[in-house]
Amino acid sequence: MKIIADLHVHSKYSRATSKDMDSDSIALWAHRKGINLVGTGDFTHPTYLKELKKNLAPSANGLFKLKESNNNVHFMLTTELSNIYSYRGKTRRIHNILTAPSFEAVDKINSALSRFGRLDYDGRPIFGFNAKELVKLVMDVSDMCMVIPAHAWTPWYSVFGSNSGFDSIEECFEEQSKHIHAIETGLSSDPPMNWRLEALDRITLISNSDAHSPEKLGREANVLECGMSYSDIISTIKTKDNKRFLYTIEFFPEEGKYHFDGHRNCKISFSPEQTNQHAGLCPVCGRPLTIGVLNRVEKLATRKDGIVPDNAIPFKHLIPLKEIMADILAVGVNTVKVNKMYTESVIDKGISELDILLNIPEQELKHIMPDTMANSIISSRNGMVKRVPGYDGVYGRISVLKNMKQEKQQSLFQSKGGNDGTC
Ligand SMILES: [Zn+2]
Ligand SMILES: [Zn+2]
Ligand SMILES: [Zn+2]
Repeated sequence: MKIIADLHVHSKYSRATSKDMDSDSIALWAHRKGINLVGTGDFTHPTYLKELKKNLAPSANGLFKLKESNNNVHFMLTTELSNIYSYRGKTRRIHNILTAPSFEAVDKINSALSRFGRLDYDGRPIFGFNAKELVKLVMDVSDMCMVIPAHAWTPWYSVFGSNSGFDSIEECFEEQSKHIHAIETGLSSDPPMNWRLEALDRITLISNSDAHSPEKLGREANVLECGMSYSDIISTIKTKDNKRFLYTIEFFPEEGKYHFDGHRNCKISFSPEQTNQHAGLCPVCGRPLTIGVLNRVEKLATRKDGIVPDNAIPFKHLIPLKEIMADILAVGVNTVKVNKMYTESVIDKGISELDILLNIPEQELKHIMPDTMANSIISSRNGMVKRVPGYDGVYGRISVLKNMKQEKQQSLFQSKGGNDGTC
């Protein structure tokens, strides 16, 4: 069956997360968005885990559903951990997603982890040991678990991060690298950027929302055609089988918070080329710039832009629907007008947001929404967008191009910026 999976989310027990992130509203919003498999997030947190055990019942082999509910969304047991440690004279900060096939496996992982530190102060706890030891600890519990480096390119907390990471999977995980089958590309990078590293040809690129609030679920996701069972899903991911892994759903990478280089406080946003011209220093404060994902990819790239590896899994870019609406209405995303329009065209009609953004044909869209909105959705499907890249923690802005003149300006911008992330 067709599975739309979002495997990296957080519960209300993680820092800076909406108090609505519990299993009920995660399932409700997953359904609204068009996701039929969602990670629980935060299975290391004792209170949340108790809630999960109480609220979920086994649904399919290794997956779960809400008890006593009509909601058809399946849950996979997942969490995220942060490993912060010193290695070869540098501080490394790596986030990893874990998946587990059963509550028994979760209990064993948690009891092994609790020997190294507390689990109850944050849904994403921090440990001081090496990331490769984490892989060993998890694999000792069950080789049905997966460890997936999270948002693999972000500067501060990731396996390839410019400030905290490594230059390769093998440098980070050493002899445990054989257990790393996938990485999460994160919001600021997309598959074509990752295709530039030959070393990643064996790795499956997956995409998740990392949602901290229900409405952010599914902003990135994975579309699979396989059995709705834990073992089928992880084998599809592990084998990088592009007959069963149909495509990933991606942000335009410029929208991510760390696409370009820069300084948030100094309002400096630079392309990698501009950063080189300034020797990596901020022209306002003189301190080193935060080096973003595009620059880091270019440093580690072994291929030119534009090469598609043989076994690549396709992808689709999208703009979240509320952002398209805000653009049309010329108001902010979190406004009464946008919420009203979203409720009327998605929630009340019972059509999922991902269906609207990706699948429903143009003529049908025009039946269910104003022409201006349908046209914007079609333009975003075709990559007809203007991109203002994010930098140093500031989200980028993607808007639909409204006329040919604007399109011309945009293509000039792209040829200067050097990266055109279109499908
Ligand atoms: Zn993270
Ligand atoms: Zn996260
Ligand atoms: Zn500065």
